[in-house]
Amino acid sequence: MGKRTTRKSSGKKGAWGGLFAGIFLILLAWITRSTGLWEMLSPESTPAASLSLPQDAGELQVWYIDIGQGDSQYIRTPSGKDILIDAGDTYAGDSLVSWLQDQGIEKLDMVIVTHPHADHIGGMSAVLQAFPPDVFYMPSLPESQIPTSRCYEEMLLALEENGNKITTAKAGVIPLEEEGLRLEFLAPGTGTYDSLNNYSAVVRLTYGERNFLFMGDAETPVEEELLANHSPLQADVLKCGHHGSNTSTSLAFLKAVSPSAAVISCGADNEYGHPHEEILTRLQQASVTIYRTDTQGTLCAVTNGHSLSFHTDLPSAWED
Ligand SMILES: [Zn+2]
Repeated sequence: MGKRTTRKSSGKKGAWGGLFAGIFLILLAWITRSTGLWEMLSPESTPAASLSLPQDAGELQVWYIDIGQGDSQYIRTPSGKDILIDAGDTYAGDSLVSWLQDQGIEKLDMVIVTHPHADHIGGMSAVLQAFPPDVFYMPSLPESQIPTSRCYEEMLLALEENGNKITTAKAGVIPLEEEGLRLEFLAPGTGTYDSLNNYSAVVRLTYGERNFLFMGDAETPVEEELLANHSPLQADVLKCGHHGSNTSTSLAFLKAVSPSAAVISCGADNEYGHPHEEILTRLQQASVTIYRTDTQGTLCAVTNGHSLSFHTDLPSAWED
């Protein structure tokens, strides 16, 4: 601004004008600095959204990471265990690794793959290389459903290089139980399906009075089975199956889960039209608060086992 004033100035009048403008600017700078206005005006001091939320003693954090179109959730247990469910698509792998590094993570205690579609495992080889996990869970698949994709091969290679074995994720397995916290698989069961989505590992996380349900891409046939099996479905937070597609989150299932909040993990303007309008309407009619990674970026639910809060405006692991 000062430079432009000087450049425009010509002759004696202009020189005086420039001098006054200069004095004015110096005074303005002094006033703003001394009154704290400087902090509000200076772009350098604009408070950046904090990446890692401080974790109070006894708190569980559940992060729904914005990785574009796909799924990735990160759980930090009250005892400090780091668990990752899915790793988004291939293009998000490096950004997800940086995001996790920014969280101060050096190693993951547990990695869960819900099912080996690219939008869930594309970034997994990068994650496995950066954070060799203690345990790795994935559902076992019938021969006809085993992917031939490059990202699947790369994930298997990374597991091999780490010396990681694949532990089968299936209904009834409880990978973690400690101090009021329990993580269990509700699916897959023994059913056979045409769609790989329905082999998704469904995860239920309980801490104190609070429950979280992660559906992967499980569709209505799985929801119906879970209802028929009388699986413990009630959850405060439902990570909707299949990115809010109308293949999932059937009315009967939603009633049984009875969540206060639903999270939809999908990319902005994705080619599948996720989430489907029908599902948004269904959630609204059930008075469920909707959180979306495509419109709100990364989200974090925090609970001490009693109270539950959602944090938004958190940096994404992916920018379109
Ligand atoms: Zn998916």
